[in-house]
Amino acid sequence: MDSPGLVVVGASLAGLRAVEAARLKGYTGPVTLIGAEPHLPYDRPPLSKEFLDGPEEPEPPYFRTAESLRTDLGVDLRLGAPATALDPQGRTVTVAGAPIRYEALVLATGAQARPLPGTVGMAGVHTLRGLDDARAIRSQLVPGIRMVVVGAGFIGAEIACAARRRSVAATVVEAAPAPLSRAVGADLGPVLGEVLRRHGVDLRCGGQVAELVGGDRVRAVRLADGTELPADLVVVGIGAVPATDWLVDSGLKLDAGVVCDETLCAGFEGVYAAGDVVRWFNPAFGQAMRLENWTTAAEQAAVAAHNALTPGDPRPCATVPYFWSDWNADRVQFVGLPDGEEVAFVQGGPDSGSFLALYRRGDRVIGALGLNQRRAVIRLRSAIGRGVGWDDTVAALRG
Ligand SMILES: Cc1cc2nc3c(=O)[nH]c(=O)nc-3n(C[C@H](O)[C@H](O)[C@H](O)COP(=O)(O)OP(=O)(O)OC[C@H]3O[C@@H](n4cnc5c(N)ncnc54)[C@H](O)[C@@H]3O)c2cc1C
Repeated sequence: MDSPGLVVVGASLAGLRAVEAARLKGYTGPVTLIGAEPHLPYDRPPLSKEFLDGPEEPEPPYFRTAESLRTDLGVDLRLGAPATALDPQGRTVTVAGAPIRYEALVLATGAQARPLPGTVGMAGVHTLRGLDDARAIRSQLVPGIRMVVVGAGFIGAEIACAARRRSVAATVVEAAPAPLSRAVGADLGPVLGEVLRRHGVDLRCGGQVAELVGGDRVRAVRLADGTELPADLVVVGIGAVPATDWLVDSGLKLDAGVVCDETLCAGFEGVYAAGDVVRWFNPAFGQAMRLENWTTAAEQAAVAAHNALTPGDPRPCATVPYFWSDWNADRVQFVGLPDGEEVAFVQGGPDSGSFLALYRRGDRVIGALGLNQRRAVIRLRSAIGRGVGWDDTVAALRG
């Protein structure tokens, strides 16, 4: 009987990179790529950035054409229906009621935007995770409207900047005392908050949303202190939840993600995971983590594909998290982990248009935040991976 081959569930960044890695390593067997969305695999970062610009809708940021997927990668593309079940003993995935057999499986179902409870279906209220969300938001981003973003994470910050580029008044409401604290830590969150304000964004921290006012269509956001913020458009950016619902009966260990070991194996023969859906043991830091960033998803996909297809030669997935975010012309980059014991500026300062700050744990550098410091941050990514010491690095960078 023919080998059932490699099956990849989730036709986005991690799924596609897994397929590409499999072909690059010389795998010639069948490959099936299953995607819940009807769209060809596309890139998400542009959706909160340039895709929101200009009066005409840009082309979707597809990675490849259907032709290229079929002929260059030899993919059996199954789009428009989600996988609904996994039987890791019988080695099948169910799609549209029918089982699909696999020899090796990569789970790359990513994450879904977390909605604001009680607001689903209210006109004018959106989350931003996929192409359809971005289309709906950009069609309403017309000059003169008032937009409120709930949640000051990176995506919320980018949408607010995009709104300002389109002459839309943008207010960002954040429950925590500072924006982006989870991503960059409590010390530097306020610094990025000031950067955001310099882009004309009205940032309100410590503001709890009590309710959205307006019945069928949103009219305002009411905060717990009674403040009412008029809103024609509300974008909810309060994080994402890993897409694991379909795996609850599979026997896989789920804990805010698919739990994997350092090789990205999900605990069953042939089953690996990559991208935003995976919580894995990252040997670079000796701890389990789930990340939501582009670079890690692509790196994990290559490791997962290799290990799924070559289980006799497993590779660990050791990586230093890296995230970038574009706020108009400003590039914000973060590498490593934000929970340091000390943070120090080594280039520029909190009010500069360009700065670099390091995070210390023990005698090591564990993270770095840069504003308009593209190359320095990338160099620090490798340095952190090598476990560089704090004193030497601070001294060298301060020159
Ligand atoms: C708007 C936006 C902007 C971003 N900007 C940046 C940035 O500037 N920098 C950065 O580093 N990162 C950024 N990211 C994060 C980055 O895009 C993600 O980390 C990356 O997309 C993760 O890839 P993934 O393939 O793991 O998951 P996803 O991209 O979420 O893809 C998962 C796919 O699986 C599909 N799926 C889910 N369940 C099933 C199922 N049961 N069956 C079949 N298919 C299923 C989904 O429909 C989806 O297409 C951004 C994310 C978003 C949403």
